[in-house]
Amino acid sequence: MRTRFAPSPTGPLHLGHAWAAVVAAEHGAMQLRIEDIDRQRSKPEWEQAILDDLAWLGIGWYGPLVRQSDRMDAYAAALDRLWAAGLLFPCTCNRRDILAAASAPQEGAPLLGPDGVVYPGTCRGASREGSRPEGVALRLDARAVGNLAWHDERLGPGRMDGAAFRAGIGDVVVARRDFGTSYHLAVVVDDAWQGIDLVTRGEDLAEATPIHVALQGLLGLPVPRYLHHDLVRDGAGRRLAKRDDAQSLESYRAAGWTAEGLLARLRESRVAPECDHAKQ
Ligand code: GLU
Ligand code: ZN
Repeated sequence: MRTRFAPSPTGPLHLGHAWAAVVAAEHGAMQLRIEDIDRQRSKPEWEQAILDDLAWLGIGWYGPLVRQSDRMDAYAAALDRLWAAGLLFPCTCNRRDILAAASAPQEGAPLLGPDGVVYPGTCRGASREGSRPEGVALRLDARAVGNLAWHDERLGPGRMDGAAFRAGIGDVVVARRDFGTSYHLAVVVDDAWQGIDLVTRGEDLAEATPIHVALQGLLGLPVPRYLHHDLVRDGAGRRLAKRDDAQSLESYRAAGWTAEGLLARLRESRVAPECDHAKQ
């Protein structure tokens, strides 16, 4: 099995990332992918910190390090293909337009899907002629999505039909105006290119899976198996976030934890131990 660990270099890695890396490394030959399409928030020093943390944890990877910022041509090619098939439309709505249209009286309250408010379809009629426009958001016309099926090794079989996709997810953004791609498109293109056959990641991303399976189908890419693992939480049951620098791997290291001690605690339970008193 080929798996991957795909952190974004936008802050320090925390215990949740360590757990994601452990799961990826335990289930196959882990590939490393730096998800840095957000050029504003990604920093080379955070990428270096990821490499340092992995070295400290003793978790290695196979193959070359893949950086999404080096893969923009591949995302453009995938977008061209979807565009040429008439499956994308340019969208010039801002958040306020979308909310206003989505909560129009006849539509009821705006429906929230995994990619935000389900798009009310405002720009669907925009021209799809000519070459793919740049500098504008591109949405996938959800009417092109058929029946979806995938398998999750922890959550079991997944299915969604086209009608449910349209109602609950809608016309997702596949190219953001500012990024020229999106998380969903980049992940799908790269998982296929890196030959990933088991996608391991946190269960917070499970709801993105139908979007990914839809894109795989439309791009003619294989559907990998999935394993959405449980999330590491703090003592109060909240999932860890990058803003909680207190729970970064770096701060455990500074407090005298060894990687072995920390990983042993994580295997026992996905509750982050108190950082400041290292009990080993
Ligand atoms: N880059 C994402 C993160 O740092 C992970 C995306 C994925 O595994 O599909 O949370
Ligand atoms: Zn629009």
